[in-house]
Amino acid sequence: MFGKKRGGVVELVDATVSDNHDLDDGENRLDLVWAAEDQMRFGEMLVSEGRATIEQVQAALWEASVNGKSLGNILVKQSVLRNRDLIDLQERFDSAQISTNIQFNVPIEDVGFLHQEKVAVFGMSPTTVYLACLGDQRKVERHFSAAFPNKTLEFLAVRPQMVDAFLQRTDKLPARVETPSSGNVDKRIEIVRYVPRGTSDADVLDILVNLAGLRGGSDIHIEPKAESYTVLLRINRIRRIIHEGPLRQFAALRAQVKERARMDQMEYRKPQDGGYSQEIMGRMFDLRVATFPLNAGMEKIVIRLLDPDKASRPLSDLGISKTHDWNAACGYPHGLVIVAGKTNSGKSTTLISSLREQDRIGKSIYTIEDPIEHRVDFITQMSVNRADTVRLDCQAATRAMMRGDPEIILIGEIRDRETAQAAVQAAESGHLVFSTLHAGTVRETVNRLRHFDIDDATLRPMLRGVLAQRLIRTLCDFCRGAGCGPCMMTGYNNMTVVSEMGFFPSEDHFRRMMDDEVFWEPMVSDALRKLELGITDEKEIHRVFRSEIEYLNTDYPGVAELAARVKAVVKGTAKSMVDLEPRRQMTDDDHKRLATAAELDRSLGALGVRKMIVSPEYDTVANAYGD
Ligand SMILES: [Zn+2]
Repeated sequence: MFGKKRGGVVELVDATVSDNHDLDDGENRLDLVWAAEDQMRFGEMLVSEGRATIEQVQAALWEASVNGKSLGNILVKQSVLRNRDLIDLQERFDSAQISTNIQFNVPIEDVGFLHQEKVAVFGMSPTTVYLACLGDQRKVERHFSAAFPNKTLEFLAVRPQMVDAFLQRTDKLPARVETPSSGNVDKRIEIVRYVPRGTSDADVLDILVNLAGLRGGSDIHIEPKAESYTVLLRINRIRRIIHEGPLRQFAALRAQVKERARMDQMEYRKPQDGGYSQEIMGRMFDLRVATFPLNAGMEKIVIRLLDPDKASRPLSDLGISKTHDWNAACGYPHGLVIVAGKTNSGKSTTLISSLREQDRIGKSIYTIEDPIEHRVDFITQMSVNRADTVRLDCQAATRAMMRGDPEIILIGEIRDRETAQAAVQAAESGHLVFSTLHAGTVRETVNRLRHFDIDDATLRPMLRGVLAQRLIRTLCDFCRGAGCGPCMMTGYNNMTVVSEMGFFPSEDHFRRMMDDEVFWEPMVSDALRKLELGITDEKEIHRVFRSEIEYLNTDYPGVAELAARVKAVVKGTAKSMVDLEPRRQMTDDDHKRLATAAELDRSLGALGVRKMIVSPEYDTVANAYGD
């Protein structure tokens, strides 16, 4: 028994972490007992602050009892906490906890220096960089103070083994090797080599992937040419060259990628897709790989990195106006719930957030995805394989799933009669089924289902809710559309959802909809409200609803009003009704953060890849939503 509740106070007791009999010496044993108690107190804090439930903390302690990792790291892996929140929580609880992480969010330029002075870097909060050092501490202080002038350094006391473990993990980090130059060489044409000469072919892939993960890159493009190949990395939407290698190395790299992504090695005439997961300095990334046939048996390879932290946004953060209705629809024990939208409307993010917030431990949840984008612990995720060799189609996967004692089922996308039938059958047999559909509105979603031969009599008793959504960009708090540093001159600094939510608590609601009644707030009203609240501006609404506005599409009630208002502003005949006064002045802290970012940007070189070190508020839009 792990926990008991006594008068509202949660006690976590007898964690098996402290119950390990395989330990060889008393000192280690004490360490572990201490760690366990400490982590349990951390768990109590999380529960009392509502950051995790008792069940979630218990599940993490169970896992810790086997793999010996820290509670915080496991809760991040189990998508209970977000990585970016973990250090802040630990900092408040007891900064010594931070040494239990190798929770890497600190850009490292000089791996050689770390080895030389035996330094481990545990993480970075808005104010502090946490590290440990077995070498010359003053030298290390100078080095890191120069790299992070606005941060305090805190040296944590750790056992030497932890520093060694850290350094071992840096072995496959990209090195930054500079050719010694005579000093007056123009920095702008400097070439920064991240993959050192003489690196064995087998290590190139890991170096590239680590580099992308550490620098916040989203895609790696590997492009063979006639006599060599080029690797480009996309960071903040811009591609930069990070490596050039011989074709022999490309062949080795391609074989390695295909093997890991479980692709057909011999097939180079057809595009393929696959994926795998990889740990990058303590965090699991999901990688999606796609290949494209070129001339002469060559292929281009694209690796997309999916950052789990960006996918774990809580549902309440996504901008869905009718969260209450959505949660009500998701709370039924059985029925059909659909998220509708076009490509890149954030559907998967909404769905995975909804599933993550279900009781993943108490209920058994299965998904069928194509492909699996983000792995979530305690959810059984099956990937439908379209490769010719192993054919697992959606129907076969659904049949298999039914034997696995499911309660909640996600069928990735309803795209044809077969998947529609599979979803309906699962809902009819007493399961709660989630799915997505390519449609613009609630009504269009229902029409598409009927088009897939699902009749009204079948749909009426089972349809619980349809959320139709799109993504719009939100105005930057500082410049309100004018463009400034934090928003990278775009005027917008994030994305949010514009949606309509059809909730069908009874069959009568379904009938009313079929009688052409719209009893939910239409999407256009939500867009107008987001304009009135100054969350976005007319230009952005015009961009997102362009075709509906131009054709006054009557599937979108209220579109005429929206068109009149938005078109006039875009044409310049009316002034924006959005309050464009800055919402927030830059504080000293913001200025400092920006200055650090700019400084780092410069120090990382003009041609090399760069990473903006920015606070969560400045999070760039790229990859915030996957779809
Ligand atoms: Zn701005």
